[in-house]
Amino acid sequence: MSWQLVNNDRNEEQLLVNESLFALGNGFLGVRGNFEEGYSDEKKSVRGTYINAFHDSTEITYGEKLHAFPETQQKLLNVIDSQTILMTINGRQVQAGEAVTMERTLDMERGLSIRVLSWHDEEAGKTTVTFKRLVSFTVKELFVQQVEIETEREASVHISMAVNGDVSNFSDPDDPRVASGHAKRLTIEQVDAGDILSVTCRTYESALSVHCSSKSAISVPAERTVSSGEGRAEEAYSYTSSGKAVLTRWSMYTDTYRHGDQLEQTAARLLSECGSFTEAEEAQHEYLKAFWKDTLLEIEGDPELQQGIRFNLFHLLQSAGRDAVSNISAKGLSGEGYEGHYFWDTEIYMFPFFLMTRPDTARQLLKYRFSLLNAAKKRAREVGHTKGALFPWRTISGGECSAFFPAGTAQYHISADIAYSFIQYYLVTGEKAFLREYLTELLTETARLWMDTGHMKDGVFRIDDVTGPDEYTCIVNNNFYTNAMAQYNLKWAAACWELLEAKDAQALNQKLELEKGEIAAWKEAAERMYLPYDEKLGIHAQDDTFLQKKVWDLAATPKEKFPLLLHYHPLTLYRYQVCKQADTVLAHFLLEDTADEATMKHSYEYYEKVTTHDSSLSYCVFSMMAARHGDVEKAYRYFIETARLDIDNTHQNTKDGLHLANMGGTWLALVYGFAGMRVKESGLLFRPVLPKAWKSMSFRIRWREALLEVQLEKELVRYEALEGSLTFKHHDETISLKLGDTKEIPLRLS
Ligand code: BGC
Repeated sequence: MSWQLVNNDRNEEQLLVNESLFALGNGFLGVRGNFEEGYSDEKKSVRGTYINAFHDSTEITYGEKLHAFPETQQKLLNVIDSQTILMTINGRQVQAGEAVTMERTLDMERGLSIRVLSWHDEEAGKTTVTFKRLVSFTVKELFVQQVEIETEREASVHISMAVNGDVSNFSDPDDPRVASGHAKRLTIEQVDAGDILSVTCRTYESALSVHCSSKSAISVPAERTVSSGEGRAEEAYSYTSSGKAVLTRWSMYTDTYRHGDQLEQTAARLLSECGSFTEAEEAQHEYLKAFWKDTLLEIEGDPELQQGIRFNLFHLLQSAGRDAVSNISAKGLSGEGYEGHYFWDTEIYMFPFFLMTRPDTARQLLKYRFSLLNAAKKRAREVGHTKGALFPWRTISGGECSAFFPAGTAQYHISADIAYSFIQYYLVTGEKAFLREYLTELLTETARLWMDTGHMKDGVFRIDDVTGPDEYTCIVNNNFYTNAMAQYNLKWAAACWELLEAKDAQALNQKLELEKGEIAAWKEAAERMYLPYDEKLGIHAQDDTFLQKKVWDLAATPKEKFPLLLHYHPLTLYRYQVCKQADTVLAHFLLEDTADEATMKHSYEYYEKVTTHDSSLSYCVFSMMAARHGDVEKAYRYFIETARLDIDNTHQNTKDGLHLANMGGTWLALVYGFAGMRVKESGLLFRPVLPKAWKSMSFRIRWREALLEVQLEKELVRYEALEGSLTFKHHDETISLKLGDTKEIPLRLS
């Protein structure tokens, strides 16, 4: 059961949710789980096909536009639709209506979705139509569909298919989490209907082209016709037969980013190389076998949670860009929420999963960020900095896409978050070339930003007027999270120059032109970084004024007023102690050596009371810190919120796309939370605990050349080196394992 998701609901709301849940993708191409034939009764649908990073620029209209507000933003486009397969059997339209039984499955082990419709037809007898589809992990351009039509008696069948370039994006002017306009952004460049159907479209502003070529084959003798018009190419088959007929349809997507000016040629070549559906299915299965082996994560004792875990990891895989122009958008490739933008979600919530299981993908994600460094330097100048790099809060190709600066550009912490993920990569892989080619430069430019943003006053380094992760508290002085992360950024920027070999340092200095005393100034700012602390409460204050504000009465707030952002003006929220998500508590997770145990525990207890978790990025952090402080059952309750958030649609907006950061959070909560893993300057560490409900939990991680399997049982933890050798810590004990070694240690009960 845990390998499959089944949902046969056909009410409008759930169908929209299922479009996201059943979305298929491969990091390049994403296809929402729409029905080939559309819905009966005109039900609403967000019919979508997306190519990671394929976007247009749109103008931002402001009532009052101030200096350096972004003029344009980027929008992930819904591209050419090749999902449509319409059918009639004896003149009756095939549709998942009332009298039809439907069984719909997402198979995460094999990477495809299957939908079976069956009914009794007066003339044709028992009729079954089975739709299968997959988005290939091995040929990234390929979306392949198969339809099996089976009738008991002879029937006349008509099938028509389209490649449709006349598409728009979805918009909702009342929800800040989805787009509010600019729905149509593609013009048709070319339409052809021959042996192959093909359509090319071009964006209005960004001058990018997207192409889709599609071909089909049917297993029974049939008459084929083609036609074209209004941005669509169509083909149809008609046949009369009894028994089974199988239709296969291959659609290839190419775009300017990845295929230059060879869109049509590349698609045609790839189509000519395509094997049967079964071959595509086998290749997909092989690919996923390797993925599930590398990322093994099993719990014994709760199949529903196990299903949630697999689902979340599967979608992380489906969403992660693996090339130089793409990353992981907040909704993956499953919907249009947040317009396909990349946020800090990647670095803080999703990157660790890839770093510890698939370092090649992790490296690619960092290379994408690094490619935005020049844009980030440009943005820093626009905003008024004389030096350094300010990464955009949300972006696709590097420009700031947030029009609401208090919860957008002001979230300067994203620059430190990116720096943090670069440092983590170095700590885990130890790659010297990475230090030389990426890490030092990125840290130098982000350190420069902090020096230019903050200032020394009364002997401490302060950072004023920024916003931390909690978006219900904006533009504050000395946000603890930001200051602590900036401190780490500055400290490591200085360390990098010391770690570099002299000749590399010299070469890099030619490019970065360190000023005299610059490194010493970073060190001093880091040492004297102001980290607000409240003596009375024994906690780090979220910022200079947070603890002076009135506490929001969460208990007295009616359920229907959540999430608060949809019901209260931002200023109302800013005036209270109320958090949308983990802020100080997140800093304690990421930088646990910045505060003592008691402070971290008190902070966790204090902020828990004022946090709404209106952002799905919150639960996993509270889960990990509950486990850290020994409240394993609380950690378990928070964990449950992450594992099935989309499957159960608990945030009620899964229809707009999946919550990818939360999905990464599920992995974090298991590995960093229950297994207590940390990647520290001193190396790898585990402090494992196991919730009562589970008999065991097992997972695998990579550390340098080693592959480590960790198995937690009720009373012991077992570490096994499956590949290579490694040294790590279990609490204070140092453990060294060689290939094939196993070490068992009794679990501590706190
Ligand atoms: C959260 C941000 C997050 C964004 C995209 C917002 O609701 O507050 O932290 O980056 O969603 O997921």
